[in-house]
Amino acid sequence: MYSRNAPRNRPGGPLLLIHGGAGPRATELALQASQHYEKGLADAIEAGRAALLEGESALDAVCAAVVALEDNPLFNAGRGASLTDCGTAEMDAAVMTGDGHAGAVAASRFMRNPVVAARAVMEQTDHVLVVDPGIDLADRWGMQREPTEYFITAHRMRQLEEVLAHRQSAPRCGTVGAVAMDLAGSIACATSTGGMVGQAVGRVGDTGLIGAGSFASEHSAAISCTGEGEAFIQGVVAHDIAARMRYGGSDLTVALRDTYQQELNRRGATGGTIALTPSGQALIAHNSKAMFAGYWDGDQAETFV
Ligand code: ASP
Repeated sequence: MYSRNAPRNRPGGPLLLIHGGAGPRATELALQASQHYEKGLADAIEAGRAALLEGESALDAVCAAVVALEDNPLFNAGRGASLTDCGTAEMDAAVMTGDGHAGAVAASRFMRNPVVAARAVMEQTDHVLVVDPGIDLADRWGMQREPTEYFITAHRMRQLEEVLAHRQSAPRCGTVGAVAMDLAGSIACATSTGGMVGQAVGRVGDTGLIGAGSFASEHSAAISCTGEGEAFIQGVVAHDIAARMRYGGSDLTVALRDTYQQELNRRGATGGTIALTPSGQALIAHNSKAMFAGYWDGDQAETFV
């Protein structure tokens, strides 16, 4: 297990952590040179930081950071999403706030920013999860739509060819996410993904499933995960971490370590998690070799590639 505490120089917000996926090696997670990933992460931190400094909510900040990563074709979310075995982009995303409200989309094909659509599910419907939201819903929610080709990049098509020809087993991951605390002390998480490279059409991963890849509660933490989604679903990983804190009294570091041991290591699965607590404890942790991540602690910002 590799972990880093984001250094804090004060309690409370603002605070922001982001991730750009976890995998076996940074060179396998990256489609291009690492400095492009560093810049992409720094831009996402800046987007979230600007929102927090404007006094916007933690939800606004995590959405701003994730939109920046979705719009960046290097990351596996939004434009540049991993492709299914039929060469299509099907994206999952979720948001949740510390007061227990959540929204998600799965297998989204038209929404330019799936994380914004997830927020629309939370704020504009009575539902939590909408699968493959159609063009009529996109228009009703005021979403920006794109043709399906917008999401498909040459890099991802090459990567899919390699994976389907069994010349490459990895990288299959690369989800993005953010957790934040705003100036008022509220917390939120957001996660967005194209899923696993070469996944079956219709497969839904952990990212859009509340409690699996994404969870937030003011009684425990805001949590966003990346990794082998099937294991995160079966271990209900994000909620398991939160439950160890809330019901077992574990602190974030211990809860995360124990969940990884019992739910991921046991299944031989790898991934990474970013999390922060309402008291301002912040953690970036992964059992995969590499994880793209970063933080802004209200003072300094750092990225890890
Ligand atoms: N967890 C994502 C999924 O299974 C993939 C990833 O994190 O890269 O869809």
